Amino acid sequence: MPADLRLHFPILAEQVHGHPLVWLDNAATTQKPRVVIDAISDYYLRANANVHRASHALSARSTHAFEDARDTVCQFLNARHSDEIIWTRGATEALNLLAWSWGSSTLKAGDEILLSAMEHHANIVPWQLVAERTGATIKVIPITESGELDLAAFQQLLNSNTKVLSVTHVSNALGTINPVKEMIAAAKAVGALTIIDGAQAVAHFPVDMQDLDCDFYVFSGHKVYGPTGIGVLYGRRDLLEAMPPWQGGGEMIDRVSFSGTTFQKPPFRFEAGTPNIAGVIGLAAAINYLNAQDRTRLAQHETMLRLKLEQALDQLPGIRRIGTAQDKTAVVSFVCDHIHNQDLGVLLDQQGIAVRTGHHCTMPLMETLGLKGTVRASLACYNTEADIDHFIAALHTILNETITAVQEHAETVVAF
Ligand code: PMP
Repeated sequence: MPADLRLHFPILAEQVHGHPLVWLDNAATTQKPRVVIDAISDYYLRANANVHRASHALSARSTHAFEDARDTVCQFLNARHSDEIIWTRGATEALNLLAWSWGSSTLKAGDEILLSAMEHHANIVPWQLVAERTGATIKVIPITESGELDLAAFQQLLNSNTKVLSVTHVSNALGTINPVKEMIAAAKAVGALTIIDGAQAVAHFPVDMQDLDCDFYVFSGHKVYGPTGIGVLYGRRDLLEAMPPWQGGGEMIDRVSFSGTTFQKPPFRFEAGTPNIAGVIGLAAAINYLNAQDRTRLAQHETMLRLKLEQALDQLPGIRRIGTAQDKTAVVSFVCDHIHNQDLGVLLDQQGIAVRTGHHCTMPLMETLGLKGTVRASLACYNTEADIDHFIAALHTILNETITAVQEHAETVVAF
């Protein structure tokens, strides 16, 4: 495992700088199985037409596939109703939608927006913008040394002014899985709205809206083996029905006249303009692909690889791992004493190995940790033990060469 599964992902056979590609940047984006690529090209080959509007056969085909995909996502999230699934461009747009539509129409001075220190910028900046407009203030749940949320501090921050809790399910920089179910219950007890950023969760374990009981949940298609430019906002039906539109245009209206416009019910109220139909169809193909796998086995495989990687890194000189939470997905962040993150990223790339270096769009988290950034290796179901071996061997060589060069330089300086 998963040698045959790898064959489903054509790009994994690519060579980079004369080496086989080792893709360890899955938290940034995952590669796509052939079924996803085929579903998108099949749509353009056989069904391309705008959805919902026309009376012709191709529109019926595309509308059918488009709305079927909504049912697929509804089941994937175990939501109650398909009209609770709204298409967006990604997690970022879904969070902006919430901040603009719900936030601007509800928040006022004195209200508190509760975020955490490990949020991606996508779950910080939209709230800063809405706080500026409404006078609401942002409060931040701190983290512990291991990179977990400080739950005692969280409890203390909750109060009757807390109007919304918006936190990530899984940290993209550290891999920490947050205890969101307990946090949702605690936030609801003070009457706060609950939003979970699932961008880093859905590819790694099943999520269940009815079990979590959150009000909103967002994710991006491209991090779950689907295409870019498509994402999902799940929202509780009664809450969505009460929310005003945030963008205007075709598709989202009921009647338009110059004396006033009435709007469609959700989900269409929030889907102005021609949607990313091919993206929606590609996302459904990705979810169907994932559903056809043994997800428990995939999760076990990813954990086995992560532990192997962590153990190997701990043997290397000058490497410090960042984020040592008990409950983690397959994200491994580290810093290296001897070499700058960026340089390490470039040297690894020369060996065909793709990792991410930098702040990972979590600048406040990096500031809390006292770091400029980390090197992040993030795994997906198609990674193998051979990928880890290549990565560690390359890192070993780079470190040896760097340490030798530093020692030689020091000796030359002393000789002078
Ligand atoms: N939240 C988290 C936790 C993420 O990891 C990301 C992507 N790195 C986002 C939000 C934003 O996703 P997108 O850029 O696909 O909208």
